[in-house]
Amino acid sequence: MPKLTKELVVNWHITEACNYKCDYCFAKWDSDSKEVLHSQIKIETLIEQIENIRHILNKSSQTVYFDQLRLNLVGGETFLYMKQLKNIINLSKKYNFRLSAITNGSLFNEIDMKFIAQNFSSLGISVDSINEYTNLAIGRTSKQNTFNPSQVLTAINKIKKYNPMIEIKINTVVNKLNASEDLSYFISQIQPNKWKIFKLLPVYSNKLDITEQEFHQFIEKHSSFKSIISSENNNDMTESYLMIDPLGRFFQNGYTSGYKYSSPLWQVSAETALKQIKFDSQKFVNRYKKIF
Ligand code: SF4
Repeated sequence: MPKLTKELVVNWHITEACNYKCDYCFAKWDSDSKEVLHSQIKIETLIEQIENIRHILNKSSQTVYFDQLRLNLVGGETFLYMKQLKNIINLSKKYNFRLSAITNGSLFNEIDMKFIAQNFSSLGISVDSINEYTNLAIGRTSKQNTFNPSQVLTAINKIKKYNPMIEIKINTVVNKLNASEDLSYFISQIQPNKWKIFKLLPVYSNKLDITEQEFHQFIEKHSSFKSIISSENNNDMTESYLMIDPLGRFFQNGYTSGYKYSSPLWQVSAETALKQIKFDSQKFVNRYKKIF
């Protein structure tokens, strides 16, 4: 049987630093050393190993062939360290990676929208609520501002003007505070290509956890967007992502608390690091089929 040809997605959390303080933030890693993005030599080695992941998986998979790699840059807040981010983008271009990013949207008034439009094929914005009080309660607020849906809308319109082909995604984490909210109007204004809806994954905190039923009710309420929605419950999310932390290690959730880590990819080969984590390739392919 011929193999399915797909794009491999590797998620690199380039920094833990963030100007928001969401209650259920999972961007917390065991670290006492400097993040990779501040070291030129570590970034270069890490990016080289990221390119190798695709070839290693191609050798071992009977069902899928990854013809391209998309490096998805995540935080913390991805656009917090612009100089370092630009360096990562330039190095990634050497390997012809497609680039995407996830942001909390808080710095849209400080970043050049043309820069985003020209460098990323896809941009994800985390939007859990459009209600100011709910955003305050969740912690989607900084010293300067609270999450501002109209600022996000303006920014997206500008980005689309510069790059009409860019893929816009909205990521929503359903939790106790937003489970009853209706985001339909906002979503119809943004017109994203995809809307990824996650059930809160209680890695560090479960006080805002919701039941499967509450999660399904949220999906049902927004069923008019079913052509763009992809939803993931905790089981789908476990061991089905290739995720690298700010220190350059693979990490995985799905454990009772905290993460499991590999050695840093700037220290060992991608082959060795992949053996140190539990990676369910079948789940990865299933998830992949569902989302793309
Ligand atoms: S915006 Fe994202 S990275 Fe920042 S605190 Fe919230 S969940 Fe964490």
